[in-house]
Amino acid sequence: MVIGGGHNGLVAACYLAKSGMSVLVLERLDVLGGATQCTSPFAGIPAEVSSYASMMGLFPDRIADDLGLDLQSRPPRISSFTPAVRHNLATGLLVERHEAEPTQAAFRELTGSDAEYNAWRSFQAEVGDLAKQVSASLMEPLAPASEMRERVDQETWEMLVERPLREAIESRFTDDTVRGLVAGDAFLHGMVDLDSPAAGRNYLYHALGTANGEWRVPLGGMGALTAALERSAWRFNVETVTHAFVTKVEADGRSARVTWQSDGEECFVDCDWVLGNVSPWVLKIMLGTQPGPRPEGSNVKVNMLVERLPKLRSDVSPARAFAGTMNIAAGYEELRQSYAAARAGQLPGVVPGQWTCTTLTDPSTLGQLAIDGMHLLSFLSMCTPARLFVEDVSGVRDEVVCRALDAINAHLDEPVESLIVRDADGAPCLEAFAPQDLEAALALPGGHVNHNELSWPWMPDNAPLETPAQRWGVQTHIDNVMVCGAGAQRGGAVSGIGGHNAAMAVLDSR
Ligand SMILES: Cc1cc2nc3c(=O)[nH]c(=O)nc-3n(C[C@H](O)[C@H](O)[C@H](O)COP(=O)(O)OP(=O)(O)OC[C@H]3O[C@@H](n4cnc5c(N)ncnc54)[C@H](O)[C@@H]3O)c2cc1C
Repeated sequence: MVIGGGHNGLVAACYLAKSGMSVLVLERLDVLGGATQCTSPFAGIPAEVSSYASMMGLFPDRIADDLGLDLQSRPPRISSFTPAVRHNLATGLLVERHEAEPTQAAFRELTGSDAEYNAWRSFQAEVGDLAKQVSASLMEPLAPASEMRERVDQETWEMLVERPLREAIESRFTDDTVRGLVAGDAFLHGMVDLDSPAAGRNYLYHALGTANGEWRVPLGGMGALTAALERSAWRFNVETVTHAFVTKVEADGRSARVTWQSDGEECFVDCDWVLGNVSPWVLKIMLGTQPGPRPEGSNVKVNMLVERLPKLRSDVSPARAFAGTMNIAAGYEELRQSYAAARAGQLPGVVPGQWTCTTLTDPSTLGQLAIDGMHLLSFLSMCTPARLFVEDVSGVRDEVVCRALDAINAHLDEPVESLIVRDADGAPCLEAFAPQDLEAALALPGGHVNHNELSWPWMPDNAPLETPAQRWGVQTHIDNVMVCGAGAQRGGAVSGIGGHNAAMAVLDSR
C-alpha cells in the first residue's frame, strides 16, 4: 500500500509493481501528483499552471529510463539574475547556465575586477565536485559519513559540512551580491542560521540538482510529470484510488492494515508493506505514535499571469533576466536582516525570494496566450515562516504579496501589477499560498515544502544500518512501514529519489 499519490508515491508504486508486486495507491485528493500538478486557477483563462513546484530539482534520468517515462524536460538557458543598484545606477549579475565570457564580464562590471568571478568559479568547482560524488550515491544505500568523506576533497568537505557556511561566504567573497547568491540558495530550503551546519546542508542540496543534470522545466508543466507517471503506473498494473483519506495504519512488522475514509465510508485493506508518501510527521500520527515537533515551512508561493514581461531598469532584457531564477532582496546583508526579523517574529520589511518565468523555457502550458506574448511569473519567498501567519493567514499572505511586488518593482521600469491579466470575473490572475494554504491543499504539516527539514545525504558513522529501510534512509520504527516521500533521507525536491529508495528497501527486504 502506498499512502499518497504524489510523484514519489507513484515512483515507488511503479518500481514495486514492475517487480511483480501488487500495489494499491491511496490519495486523499481527487487528482494524483501532490505538489507536482498543474491547475487552471484563473476563471475563464486557459492557462495550465504548475501551481506548487515549477522546476524539477533533481529527477535522475535513471528513474525516467527504468520506468519508461514519456516525459521531456529542458533547463532554462540562464542560471540566475540578481538585480542590484550601484552608484545609483541599476545593474545586476547575470549568471549563464554554461558560464562563459558574458558571465565573467557581468561579475567584472558589478564588482570592479575579476577577483570575485575567480573566487566564484573555484567555489562552484569545489562544491560541484562534492555534489557530483554525492549525486552518484543518492540512489544507492546510504554511505556512512566517513566513507563519503573519503570520496571527496577533504578541504571542501570541511568547508561545507563541518564549518559554518557563513565562514566560507565571508572568507571567499567580498561583494554583497555575490555573497547573497550563495546564502540565498541555502535560505530557499528553510529558515537556516548561516552559523549552523544546516546552511551548508541546504546549499549542498541545491547544488545536487546542478550536478545531476541541472534544475529542469518539465515540458507541459508539472502535470506532465504526473501524467507520465500515471501512464507508467497503468502499464505496470498499479491500482490507484483517489478521494481516499487514510486515517490509520496498524502494523506489527510483518503485516499491516490501512484504514481510510471515502465519502463518509470507512474502508480498510490488509497488506504486507506500507509506504508513506505523506510527511513522516503525519505517518507517525497514522501509526498512533507521538509525532514530535511539528515541521514548519517558510515559503510563500505566488503565481501570476502577465500580458508581457516587465521591462527592467537595467539594460538586461526581460527574456534573459526572468529565464532562470531572479533573486530579489537577496543581497547578503538584506538576507541576514530578513532572517533576523523572521526569527524575532516579524515579517521581513522587504520580502526576499526567487522569481522565475518557466514559460520562457516552455510556453506550451499557455497555448495561444503565449503566442499573444503572455507569461507566467512565479515567486517563492524566503524567511516567511508559518508562525508569522497564524493570527491572520489571508492578511499576512496579502502583505507578503505586496512586499514581494514592491521589492521587484524597485528593479523594474514599470510596476509588474500593471501587467497582470484579468480573469473572466475581472479579478487579477494571481494566486498565492501561505504555508497554511499549502498545508490545507497538500496536507504538508506546517506547509513545509519538503515535508520536513532536509538531512545530510549520508549516515552518521554510528547510526544503525541493520535493516534495508535503515540502509536506504526510509525507516520508521516498524520494519514493514517506510517513508517514501520528500521526508525520506535524500527525498526532498522533485526527484523521485524518496520513492525509488523506499521501493528498493522493500525489494531488499523480501
Ligand atoms: C509551493 C511549492 C513549491 C515547490 N517548488 C519546488 C521546485 O520548484 N522544485 C523542486 O524540486 N521542488 C519544489 N518543491 C518541493 C517538491 O515539490 C516536493 O518536495 C515534492 O513534490 C514532494 O513530493 P512527494 O511525492 O514526496 O510528496 P507530495 O507531493 O507532498 O505528495 C504527497 C501526497 O500525499 C497525499 N496525502 C496526504 N495526506 C494523505 C492522507 N491522509 N491520505 C491519503 N493521501 C494523503 C497528498 O494529497 C499528496 O498528494 C516545492 C513544493 C511546494 C509545496
